Formats: sequence, structure tokens, C-alpha cells
Amino acid sequence: MNETPDKKTLVPNGGYPMHTYEDLKDLYYTYITDPEDRKMIEAAYLYAKEKHKDELRKSGEPYIQHPLEVAYILAQLQSGPATIAAGLLHDTVEDPDATIEDINARFGEDVAKIVDSLTKIQRLKLSHRTESDFEAEDHRKIFLGMAQDVRVIIVKLADRLHNMRTLDALTPDRQKALSKETLDVFTPIAHRLGIYTIQSELEDLSLKYLEPEKYQEILDLVNAKCEHRQESLAALKKRIADILFEKQIPFRMESRVKSIYSIYRKMYLKGHSFDDIYDVMAVRIITKSEMNCYEILGIIHATYKPIPGRFKDYIAMPKPNMYQSLHTTIISGDGNIYEVQIRTEDMDQIAETGVAAHWRYKEGEHYNAKEEQRDIEATLHWFRDFVSMSGENENEEAKDYMAALSNDIFNANVYVFTPLGKVIDLPTGATTLDFAYKIHTKVGDSAVGAIVNGTLVPLNTVLKTGDVCEIRTSKTASGPNLGWLDIAKTASAKAHIKKAIQKKNSDIMKDEAIRRGRDSALESFAAQDIGEGEMEKLLNQQKVFDQYGVATLEELYAAIDRKNPAPLTIIEFLNVRKKKEELKLDRHNSALDDKNPVFIKNAGNAKIELAHCCTPIPGDDIVGYVTKGKGITVHRVNCPNVQKAGSRLLSVEWKKDLGISTYPVDIEIFANDRTGLLADILSHLSSKGVTVNDLKAKVIQATMNDVVDLKIYVSDSKTLDDVFANLKAVKGVYEVNRIIH
Ligand code: MN
Repeated sequence: MNETPDKKTLVPNGGYPMHTYEDLKDLYYTYITDPEDRKMIEAAYLYAKEKHKDELRKSGEPYIQHPLEVAYILAQLQSGPATIAAGLLHDTVEDPDATIEDINARFGEDVAKIVDSLTKIQRLKLSHRTESDFEAEDHRKIFLGMAQDVRVIIVKLADRLHNMRTLDALTPDRQKALSKETLDVFTPIAHRLGIYTIQSELEDLSLKYLEPEKYQEILDLVNAKCEHRQESLAALKKRIADILFEKQIPFRMESRVKSIYSIYRKMYLKGHSFDDIYDVMAVRIITKSEMNCYEILGIIHATYKPIPGRFKDYIAMPKPNMYQSLHTTIISGDGNIYEVQIRTEDMDQIAETGVAAHWRYKEGEHYNAKEEQRDIEATLHWFRDFVSMSGENENEEAKDYMAALSNDIFNANVYVFTPLGKVIDLPTGATTLDFAYKIHTKVGDSAVGAIVNGTLVPLNTVLKTGDVCEIRTSKTASGPNLGWLDIAKTASAKAHIKKAIQKKNSDIMKDEAIRRGRDSALESFAAQDIGEGEMEKLLNQQKVFDQYGVATLEELYAAIDRKNPAPLTIIEFLNVRKKKEELKLDRHNSALDDKNPVFIKNAGNAKIELAHCCTPIPGDDIVGYVTKGKGITVHRVNCPNVQKAGSRLLSVEWKKDLGISTYPVDIEIFANDRTGLLADILSHLSSKGVTVNDLKAKVIQATMNDVVDLKIYVSDSKTLDDVFANLKAVKGVYEVNRIIH
């Protein structure tokens, strides 16, 4: 008994045998033969040793022991050279002298990327450690970080395993905190990846620190049982061996004791008594082929009485983490109960090291991260859930997701069949809707019901193992709604439904905008006496789309809703404005006191008309022209049409005080072509109170100049000068003239 725990000597490496670099080398030399790879691993070791040379672990041993043991665990899993090197280097970037760039330069991008991910995960944990709110998000970020590359997960698990093995050096508080985190975060990952050896050791170590009494109690019970059963077990194994030899079936046999943590779970979380646990001791028979497995099963069942309901065929139906084996429970000749596990060598390898076995290093095969990711996704469909949730950042969302994800991880054990016999695995409690989304997102989005075992059922029906399920879809289905979020149980289905609802909402918003834009266009065009059909025809033209940078009529309406362009601008562009200014002119004229703005010297108020060719206005120098039978037309003196008229010309003058009348003037504007030019010209004129009519615009292709002809209404030549000055201030306009026709 140790009565002074404060002074207890810490055990280096937690009492586990300490490995040297030579041990590691011996191990990886057995399967890594490329001299370059070997050199790289050795260089990584020397680099790490140098970076950690002044550091000690809490237990007092040189720091390098930790990365060395991590690398050793990785080599036991037969990891590749980059993974082992990353294991050796994983803590070096904590040192300010070592950078990722440095590691990249020395050991290549592949190693650097793994070390970089590991360092990021490490820092993230440290910065958030005290805030429980961050926990779920943390976890997810770890997952995401890890999901980039399965090798990051494997190094992280090895790192955690060695830390857990050497936990004695820490304070009891830290021991408990790390053990809890290990159970919350790392063992579920190890389980999901099927790395059983690491999973069970992590679980047992965590339990030892979290529940020391219970751990010890179970350990004692197991030891007692093993001792007690030794003879019985030996007899069982001998008899089975005899029969298999006789039948000439290749095999090797071992016995295994259930892990402390799994017994703990059965006793304390599921309420079984120790004696009710049948598989505390199991006999494992490893053979050559799948066929052999079933043959051996037949022999065992013929020799011993199997316990009903205990047979499980994980060969035909592998667990989601790829585990395959036959399990049966039998009563031996002496009345003891044993579990028998039957599997091939390959299955055994996968049962122990899971993903690590699947991606075990093979000489000469180049690592390809993309290919690996595809492999992982195909083999472990749940990986997609991690990756597809890469969007950020809401804590709430992270928590929801974490909750949904743990559900997926811990309870993935309902197997449902498609009508064609494909097995779809789902978490317990999953519904036909989850099934639909597992088949395909589109099937989920258009699902209306399901046929389960021949009966039509709604989408919230919970599925059981063995159900045959077919999804009913409809093209006119209203699709995902908020209620579906309650029906769906899997994280992936929930994520898809949320996405679909968001999209639907934004579609509705878009439809709204199109409708409003169209209404506003209809109103403006109606004011120009243009009806719906005519308007659609006018707007649905490529030149209109080009002008306003849209691709479709709908987009144009949506743009109109944003007032960019305003409907009037389009009306001007199309040059379809109603000639209502003429009405205005009539009104003005009728308001005249004197319909005759000009008088003829010596002739008084003869009937006169202002010429249309040169559109004279008050202030212009004018001359009268006598037309037989029509009276007198007033021209500007420089109008070419009257230059040589000689004796038919009369001297005329503008009257004074002409009141509010305005007079038409034809003008011509030259400008450099640009979008919005017409709109600017028109808005300048309207801001000066100038009425416009008869707008004609054309582009001179050779020079890309615009020529705009307008009829405007002004009161006199002085006002016209102002208007000209104003127009010349419009960007792009370089010349404004009056026209003589
Ligand atoms: Mn470490």
C-alpha cells in the first residue's frame, strides 16, 4: 500500500514496456522496404529528437518517448511511411523553431499536411477547453478536420492512446477530464472506423480513471471466471480442433476475454448481472474462406446445443464499420456457456484494426488522398455526413448536428432491404423518410409515402431490421417542410431537408420579385396604351436583355422589381412612349391669349403658321413667306427653304409678352454610345421642365456614336440656349444642334 501518494514515483511510459528507436525500426523494416521511405522515417525521428531535446514529459522521461511510442503504435497497425513520420513529428510544431514550412521542405507535402491538421486540432481543443458551449462545435470541427484524411484520425488515436497509457503522471482532475473526453470523442471514432484494438484499450483505460472501483470489481470477476473455466475452455477447444482436423478444414483458434468496458456497459448501463453475460469468454476460430466459416458453424451447431436467438451473421450483413464474423452461443459439454466467433483471416484483421487494415500500407502503392476519400466514402457512407456539413458556424446548429451524428454513430443497427435486395443500414428509430434520403436526395425530396412489406404506409413509419421498403414518389409532391425535420432521424436526411426548405423559401422570394416586377412593368406600359401581350412581346427581345444584362424575361422582371432598370427607362429605350406631349402642346396653345405669336409689319394680324422645317421660336430672327391660298409661314432667316424666295418674303416680328406658350423645336444630339445615355438625357430635360416628344435614337456603327433626334418644347431661344448648355453637360454628349429639315 502506498500511503504517501504525493511522493509516489511516477512510472515512465505508464509501466508499459518502453520502445527504443531500434524497436520501431525493427518493426517498420518488416513491411517498409523502400530505402527512401526508411530514410525519411529516420530523418523524422532525428528531427523530432532534436526539437524535443530539452523537454521532459510530466512523468520525467525525455519527451521523445511520446512520439516514439505513437509511431510504434502506428507501425503495429502497419501504417505507411508518411503516417509514421507524422506520428514522430506530431508535437514538433508546438516548438516555435519548427514550422509547417520547414516540415514541408524536409519531409514533403503529404507529411506536412497531416502534421498541420493535427496541430490545428490540438490548438482548437486548448483554446476552448473551459467553455462547455463550445464542446459540440469543437467535436464537429475535430471530425471535420479529421475527415480530410483518415491518416490524421489514426495518428490522433495513437497519440491519445499513448497519453491515456501514461495518465498516471497527471492530476486526478485532468485524468478524469481526459478520460471523459476520450469516451465522448475518441472511442466512438475508433468504433466507427472499426479500430477495435485501440477502441477497447481506450475504453478500459478511461473506465479505470472514471470508475476505479467498478473497474477493479469487473477485473476481479473476469479473472476469477477465467481461472475457474480454464479446464472447461481447454476441453472445448480440443474437441472442436479434433473435429476440424478430421474434416480437413484449415483453422487456427484463440480464446478471447470480453473487454472490461463492454462488461461494464452490460452490467451498469444495461442492467445485466455478470453471470448473465454469455460472451465474457469467447472462442475465436479463424479459417480460410467464407465457405469454411459456414461449414464450421454447421459443425459447431451439430456438436453443441446453440442458445436460440444468439446467432448473428455479420458476414452476410457486415456492421457499418466493416466488421464481419459469424457469432453463435453454445452450451459446452460441461454445461458452461461460450460465445463462438468464426471468421476468415481478412475479417479478423478488419475486426481488430478496421479502417487501418483496409488502408494498410502496401509497398509500391502510391498514396492518393482523393482516391482514399472515395474509398472511405464508398465503404463508410457516414463519412459523407461529416464532409457535407462543412458549412459554418452556428453553435446551435453544431449541437443539433452533434446530437444527430452521435445517434447515427451509436445506433446504426437497423437493416432494411430495397425491393431489389440491397441492404440499407439506418440508425434505430429511422423512418421511411430517412430510407428515402438514403436511397437518393431526389427520392427523399419527392417522397409521398412508402410500401413496407407490401403495405402502403406514411413517411413517419419507423423501420425494423428485415423490412422491405419501397418509396412512393410524386413529381407534384409539395416536398420537404418543417414537419419533416421531426420525422427524419438521420443527420444526413435532416441536413438535406433543411437545405431543401431554404431553397424553397428563396424560390418563393424570387417568384414574388418576378411577380412584383411584372406588375410594375404592366402598369407603366398600360400608361403608354400598351397591353399585356404587346408588352411581353416588346420585352422578350434579345436586344432588351442585352441592354439590361439579363438572360430571361423573368430575370428582367426581377431586375425591374429592384428598379434597375425602372420600367420608364425601358419604355424610352424601346421608343414606345405615347405621344401625349402633343396633347400638352394643344393645351398650351389653347391657353394662349393670342394664337398668333408673330405680327407682320404693316399688315397687322394676318393668319400665320410656324414652319415645320426650321421650327422657329421667339427670339429667333425670322422672316415670313407667303404661300398662295394658305397664308403666311414663318421661317428662321437662315432656313435654306426660304433663302431664294425673293419677293414672296415679308418682314415679320415676334410679339412682346407671349405668356406661357411653348413651341416645338427639333434638335439633334451627338454622343458617345453608352448604357443609360437616353435615360440621362431625358432626366436632364425633365428636370428643366422641358417637354419631349418624337425621340429617335440611332447608333452609327462605324464610330459607335449615338445620334438622338428630339422634338422638344421651349418658350424662346434663350431657354433653348440653356437647354443646350444643359445637354452638353450630360456625360458623353459632345454636340447639340437644331435641325432644319
Ligand atoms: Mn502528442
